[in-house]
Amino acid sequence: MAIRKLPALVVNQIAAGEVVERPASVVKELVENAIDAGATRIAVTIEHGGRDLIRVTDNGRGIALGDLPLAVAAHATSKIESSADLEAVTTLGFRGEALASIASISRMSLVSRAAGTDEAGRLDIEGGRGGEPRPASGPPGTTVTVRDLFFNTPARRKFIRADATETARVTQAVEALALAHAQVGVSLACDGRVALELPPDAGTHRRVLDVLGAELEPELLAFSLSERGLVISGMAGRPGIARTTARHQTVLVNGRPVSDRSITHAIREAYRGLIEPGRYPTIVLFLEIDPQQVDVNVHPTKAEVRFRTPSMVHGAVLSAIRRRLREADLTPSFELQRATASPGGGPASGGGPAFGSGSWSWSGPGRSITEFLAVGEERRGESSMEIEVLPVIKHVGEVLQVHSSYLVTQDEQGLIIVDQHALHERVMFETLLEAVSKGNLESQRLLMPAIVEVDAARLDLLEPLAPLFVRIGIEAEPAGPAAIAIHAFSSFLFDRGVEPSEFLLELLDRTAREGVNDDPEAALHETLDMMSCKAAIKAGDRLSDREIAELLAQRERVERSSNCPHGRPTTLRLTIRDLEKQFGRR
Ligand code: ADP
Ligand code: MG
Repeated sequence: MAIRKLPALVVNQIAAGEVVERPASVVKELVENAIDAGATRIAVTIEHGGRDLIRVTDNGRGIALGDLPLAVAAHATSKIESSADLEAVTTLGFRGEALASIASISRMSLVSRAAGTDEAGRLDIEGGRGGEPRPASGPPGTTVTVRDLFFNTPARRKFIRADATETARVTQAVEALALAHAQVGVSLACDGRVALELPPDAGTHRRVLDVLGAELEPELLAFSLSERGLVISGMAGRPGIARTTARHQTVLVNGRPVSDRSITHAIREAYRGLIEPGRYPTIVLFLEIDPQQVDVNVHPTKAEVRFRTPSMVHGAVLSAIRRRLREADLTPSFELQRATASPGGGPASGGGPAFGSGSWSWSGPGRSITEFLAVGEERRGESSMEIEVLPVIKHVGEVLQVHSSYLVTQDEQGLIIVDQHALHERVMFETLLEAVSKGNLESQRLLMPAIVEVDAARLDLLEPLAPLFVRIGIEAEPAGPAAIAIHAFSSFLFDRGVEPSEFLLELLDRTAREGVNDDPEAALHETLDMMSCKAAIKAGDRLSDREIAELLAQRERVERSSNCPHGRPTTLRLTIRDLEKQFGRR
């Protein structure tokens, strides 16, 4: 085939391939245009997940009748003039290809009345072919209607998912932009039903609660930090409302929702050890940065950005969130539901004492108490919590060890229940972390090397693990084709009676299973986790009064003591308020 220039329609359809993945992409581009036009009210309507209809109405600056054909022409924009403007983009749009792309794969109508004029104009385009703009009537602002998305690209229409899925995506896209632009009133109607109604001039704090749900307010910690030209702020969810998907993480850079790996990493890092692996914190993060310091022209849908100094951004985000989490008392509260409030609650209803027949539930929406208690059940059957709750009333001011596993005491807000193993594990972990930050861990030479028999695969792991071993005070080398000799072992573990060969085998087994972690810091943390678990007091260990006092005193001293290194809580609080409710005093 001879080389030829492609017709404009084909060019636009190719661009649409990148810009318009699904109905939510159209909604995102249209809402961005409305925000760029200075709108204070934006109304979004979709039908059938956006497949049949998407309409975005705004009260912004509008487009002059004569400019309507330009608005839908490729590479036509009012937002930048020269490549120099690309160095510091201050609008959401700048590529001038969204309307052209969308118009090429749908039936679009554009009705707009420019500010300061009396008459509106209208332009209809079908699959990129449009007529002339003609006068119309309408209020100031712009309405873009997109019908039958992908009608002329049937292969792509097939990729549209179920209405509910597409509706959820649209909602998410609108919410993200609404979070970033609290000054704008935003509504969303899906198939005639109001899905969002966000008032204008909300202020960021209010807007976050309007979007995430006001009931989450007690679960959110506001943070802010301003450093070297960066302003970072937002609301970080307590660990209890972490979710199983990253859907509740919104990152907004200069008002633009983005997904950025280094920011996501910093968030995960800030929560490390506070939430369990596989869960994602709920968080809304605003980053304001000099537009010169961020390149927004790296992705067709502008979903990614590139920072000139990514490590500085990473560091600042990490410290903003981490600092806030450290300041907060992260002890989760839980409440009993009154027995009467849960009809048919459980097999015990009718029988035992009213207190015991009530079901437990989390006050936080994240997970159920049953799920939560299941963690404890890994270690022992723990069937009725009231046994642990009641005796403390006789033991005001003292600490009670219950079932050789839990410490029960009080603080000014109520009743405190501590998982002794989980707490001690955290104490051990923080001790190790501090020690290792100062240098390699102390090592104890063994009188006789301990010999561990291993297979070839595990023997081969000695080499990649060598740098880690140095840091934790282990000295080991191959002893023949199927054995390892341990010459020196971590004093910390040695003093706590941990068997060198057992520990090494477990470490090798884990590495064989999961592979060598190529992030040395993460590998070190995982190993310290394992060491703390081995060294810590176990569930079932009887503790002396002195040991109990020491453990609780350490809780005050170490960081992140509300959660064990795996992210499970170490401590629960039953508040006096909830007790009063339970006893019908309120
Ligand atoms: P971009 O946003 O990158 O400039 P678009 O294709 O999205 O490109 O829009 C092209 C142009 O049409 C914009 O630069 C703007 O001038 C105009 N426009 C689009 N939508 C609106 C709107 N809702 N209100 C006012 N002008 C608009
Ligand atoms: Mg645009």
